[in-house]
Amino acid sequence: MDFLARQRRLQTALPEHRLDALLVTHLPNLRYLCGFTGSAGALWITPSSSVFFSDSRYTEQARGEVKGAKIVIERKTLLPSIGAWVLRKHRGVKRSVVGVEGEHLSWAASQRLAKALGGKFRLRQAPALIEQARQIKDKDEIEAIRRAVELGASLFDHALNALRPGIPELEVASALESAARRGGAEAMSFETIVAAGPRSALPHGRASEARIPSGGFVVSDFGVILLGYCSDRTRTVWVGSATAEARRIYQAVLEAQAAAIAAVRPGTTAGAVDRAARNVLKKQGLDKYFTHSTGHGVGLEVHEAPRLASGVTEVLQPGMVITIEPGVYLSGRGGVRIEDMVLVTEKGCEVLSPGNKEFIAI
Ligand code: ZN
Ligand code: ZN
Repeated sequence: MDFLARQRRLQTALPEHRLDALLVTHLPNLRYLCGFTGSAGALWITPSSSVFFSDSRYTEQARGEVKGAKIVIERKTLLPSIGAWVLRKHRGVKRSVVGVEGEHLSWAASQRLAKALGGKFRLRQAPALIEQARQIKDKDEIEAIRRAVELGASLFDHALNALRPGIPELEVASALESAARRGGAEAMSFETIVAAGPRSALPHGRASEARIPSGGFVVSDFGVILLGYCSDRTRTVWVGSATAEARRIYQAVLEAQAAAIAAVRPGTTAGAVDRAARNVLKKQGLDKYFTHSTGHGVGLEVHEAPRLASGVTEVLQPGMVITIEPGVYLSGRGGVRIEDMVLVTEKGCEVLSPGNKEFIAI
């Protein structure tokens, strides 16, 4: 990963946004900029310097991981220590503007920081410069994502092997998760969703103690983290002998997903991709049951920019990695979602690890 180039690009952007410095505290942004994977740290970036702060639990790890920045290990609470360090280093400075990540830094923490910086620095919420940069994945990132997606895709067979009426959803999740660990996953990228029968109508039905009923849909939504990068995939199967309605709904969601994938290309808007999925469901009278957005970016975080939702004007660009995941949820009855990750290419898109999506009844 070219951490130095990422920091340089950010440093160049600071004056354009009238920032004298930026304090990066959001952990995925830290990892993106300098490679640090620990749970406490901050990067102080000015147009001409980068300084990484952490505490003594991370002395060795920071030395091993952090690239392109001077490392300062503090013995006291991080933000007040950073404030004191900055004051020492910038004695002559008056009324400098420091950008903070307002979406991620709590009000209390920013107050502590402001106090530590005295009256010499003014805090301002910085625009989401790093999140914007992270939308476009470079070669190394795409490689890491491919590996995560490959491992993630291999897990569903383990879920299918475990899946039968009468066993708890958690047991299916556990089969899938232990296969993930054996395959080298650092963690799951979110809490595994296994939602069976009427629970499949909950778009985010985390695996529970509920037992798989003898008839109905089972939605499994799962992902792994490998080399820091996430995967995200959903498959839906039917348990028991399938009804015509079940097949019709499944087919409609599958067609909606295909239409959205066909719409993914550079230059098109995120909203247009969402519309493509919704239009297919509309023809079947099912659009009112599609209650969430069509997809989201995936990378160091499982949900990141861009968002593929109704009316979003953001333009897709080569290097973006997004999910396409339409769903239909009939309250009290059940639901279907089919999700794959897609890489936006120069000419269109590539479905990462496509696999079989035909209707399965078990
Ligand atoms: Zn998902
Ligand atoms: Zn997703």
